[in-house]
Amino acid sequence: MTIPRSPLPASGSLVTARRTHSFTESVIRGMTRLAMEHDAINLAQGFPNFPAPDLLKEAAVRAIRDDINQYAVTWGAPSLRHALVRKYEEWYGLTVDPNTEVTVCCGATEAMASTLMAIVDPGDEVIVFEPYYENYGPDAVLCGAKPMFVPMTMDQPLDLDRVAAAFSERTRAIIINTPNNPTGHVFSREELEGIAELCRVHDTYAVTDEIYEHILYAGEHIPMATLPDMRERTITISGASKTFSVTGWRIGTIVAPAAATDAIRKVHDFLTVGAPAPLQEGVAVALDELGPDYYSDLARSYEKRRDVLHAGLIEAGFRCTPPAGAYYILADFSDLSSRSDVEFAEWMVREIGVASVPGSSFYSRAEDGRTTVRFAFCKTGEMLGDAVQRLREVRSKR
Ligand code: GLN
Repeated sequence: MTIPRSPLPASGSLVTARRTHSFTESVIRGMTRLAMEHDAINLAQGFPNFPAPDLLKEAAVRAIRDDINQYAVTWGAPSLRHALVRKYEEWYGLTVDPNTEVTVCCGATEAMASTLMAIVDPGDEVIVFEPYYENYGPDAVLCGAKPMFVPMTMDQPLDLDRVAAAFSERTRAIIINTPNNPTGHVFSREELEGIAELCRVHDTYAVTDEIYEHILYAGEHIPMATLPDMRERTITISGASKTFSVTGWRIGTIVAPAAATDAIRKVHDFLTVGAPAPLQEGVAVALDELGPDYYSDLARSYEKRRDVLHAGLIEAGFRCTPPAGAYYILADFSDLSSRSDVEFAEWMVREIGVASVPGSSFYSRAEDGRTTVRFAFCKTGEMLGDAVQRLREVRSKR
């Protein structure tokens, strides 16, 4: 793959990946491959190594047995769209029309790409907070837009003046990922209100990636669409991958106003036709039948995993703070090694047997991530325990 030709100077992690790696795929996916090659514990790409709920699996198996094996409606099986609408009402008091405002995609990744392609024109600008999930930069570049990066410090509230300064008359959208990958930051109401005000003033879409909405240890998950006057300019992306531990099923969802949905559905249809039909049935059943206990147990079990990894990293000599949400820890290793993030991550895979993601893949300028690596803790206690034991050797082997 070569970097897509763009009329704009390419920026973002597509370039970072090329600059620092020989990977063909993204750095996150590349580190998974490297982990497999070296038989390392993979704390790089964020996917669980524990089973999905039985009820969900049984429902998908049942759908296959019932021969729900052909294309679903391109924008999503009615059962899933209706189940999702019930959930948005129950969780957040949001009223959504299943016929005109919901699109089911092949994962939140396709949801983000289809959304940006639908609403952004070449030459437009898209605001992205950094550090950011690797795909957003390339997503913007792929639709000929220019990502405008706004730095977010890990443990301080958002600097709204900086956000305001990033808006221009070319700004078409701002991407907000809460709970955040890779920082774990959960956007507060005040921060979201500040961003919302800027979206209203500049007539801009808020595109939110809420895939970690149920993986939360502190505070509250506030969908941007619930803020005053934001429903009509917010595109809410989420999905089943993280909530139901099925990252390989590729079921993502978009809730958006009807006009935006109409455009998004067109892009989605031409890109992928539709998400896997029987798996949509499985997710619909899970949404309908798993109750509040499922979601609170999910968050509680992730909190335990977070604490195991956080304590292990501190003990091993990394600097990091426990995240408020999502399942990653971005850790500074400069007390342990003067290697670059890429060298350090590659060295750890080979010598320590633990895979992480080099920090530079979350920044537009590689140097900003030079002393950090990201670890995912969506793993069993046993695997995290093994990883922590291995990480203790960093100090002696470095
Ligand atoms: N969101 C996960 C991560 O950041 C997985 C990304 C992916 O590979 N689709 O690791």
